[in-house]
Amino acid sequence: MAVLTQRSELYRRALELIPGGVDSPVRAMRAVGIDEPLFVRGGEGAYIETEDGRRLLDWVMSWGPLLFGHADAETVEAVREAALRGTSFGAATEAEVELAEEIVDAVPSVEKVRLVSSGTEAAMSALRLARAFTKRDRILKMAGGYHGHADALLASAGSGVMTLGIPASPGVPTGAAADTIVVPYNHPEAAAEAVMQHGEGLAAIIVEPVAANMGVVPPDPDYLETLRRLCDASGALLVFDEVITGFRVARGGAQERYGVVPDLTVLGKIVGGGLPLAAFGGRAEIMDLLAPAGPVYQAGTLAGNPLATAAGLSVLRRLRAPAVYADLERRAAVLEECLAPFGRVQRVGALLTLFMADDPVRNFEDAQRCDTARYGAVFRHLLEQGVYLPPSQFEALFPSTAHGEDEIERTVVALESFAG
Ligand SMILES: *Cc1c(COP(=O)(O)O)cnc(C)c1O
Repeated sequence: MAVLTQRSELYRRALELIPGGVDSPVRAMRAVGIDEPLFVRGGEGAYIETEDGRRLLDWVMSWGPLLFGHADAETVEAVREAALRGTSFGAATEAEVELAEEIVDAVPSVEKVRLVSSGTEAAMSALRLARAFTKRDRILKMAGGYHGHADALLASAGSGVMTLGIPASPGVPTGAAADTIVVPYNHPEAAAEAVMQHGEGLAAIIVEPVAANMGVVPPDPDYLETLRRLCDASGALLVFDEVITGFRVARGGAQERYGVVPDLTVLGKIVGGGLPLAAFGGRAEIMDLLAPAGPVYQAGTLAGNPLATAAGLSVLRRLRAPAVYADLERRAAVLEECLAPFGRVQRVGALLTLFMADDPVRNFEDAQRCDTARYGAVFRHLLEQGVYLPPSQFEALFPSTAHGEDEIERTVVALESFAG
């Protein structure tokens, strides 16, 4: 593998102070054979600028939150105005109620919602709530499904982690993962079998309705309906992790697009408009178990933070116009068509992966059979050409409204010059 060996001064400083030099492992880019992460000093629209002065066409877009591109003027202005009034109060604000209204209006399953600061926190809290509501302990997740890095969810957790109830990271107690059952995605029989075996003790099935942390893998027809039926039959709650799909594959997320309504929904990324904000919500009778309405404890000093709610609102309010999704769909479809000659493209709305594979990728096992060395070579070539793809085969491209025909054209030209 071609590995950049000359380390910048900034990276050397980072390595001395921060483990691996990064605050989140996917930024390290080791999966694509690059030793030094990108240090970004700014972004505008579909482009970022690095500390070493490169201007890159960005398909990663902070891993999904930036539906309107970098430094979107309306978002920046909303955050600026909010900051002038104070950055945090640790008290209730009107903007939290307004953001809750937007979320409840958009997402079919959500009657009540609580705001938190990260997707990890939202997924962890949703499962605590599901366990309290059902008075059961076990949860069922899909291999390669990522729901943040809470202990119980770090079993076979996809892209960043790669691997029945076996912790995927040292430091996760066996006990914390022991109640986590893992079955393959898009495998209704395996889910049914697990529910049969553990159904009486099963609190929840948690699933990314469109898997996006093993690369983008759409649900097979009837798969989500089957999970819904299994939950109805066993009394387990169906939890959709829509941190990526929410407000992206449709305003109401995958549950709107596929017409399957979960009991609880986990949101993140777009909902915070690029600031640290996430949420979980669902049926009122379940949500009302949360303190102070009920006994299930969950809290956050910066939850519903004024800057984050301002950013979220500035984005979500614009999503009421159906034209936004028609436009994203059209752009993403063109991108799909243009990428198709270079690999296997799997796409749902403005969410897609270019797999180095011949056959369809239907689950984590299929994804792991992809030619990751080839993907790394393609990634490095495109980076040299000024195009920043996701630095892992198991991640997604996140087109925004700032990605137009020029950006697609530049990407295709760069791909065409790949000789590998
Ligand atoms: C990103 C992601 C999370 C975790 O969100 P963080 O804000 O990074 O903690 C959870 N679930 C899914 C599906 C994600 O893509």
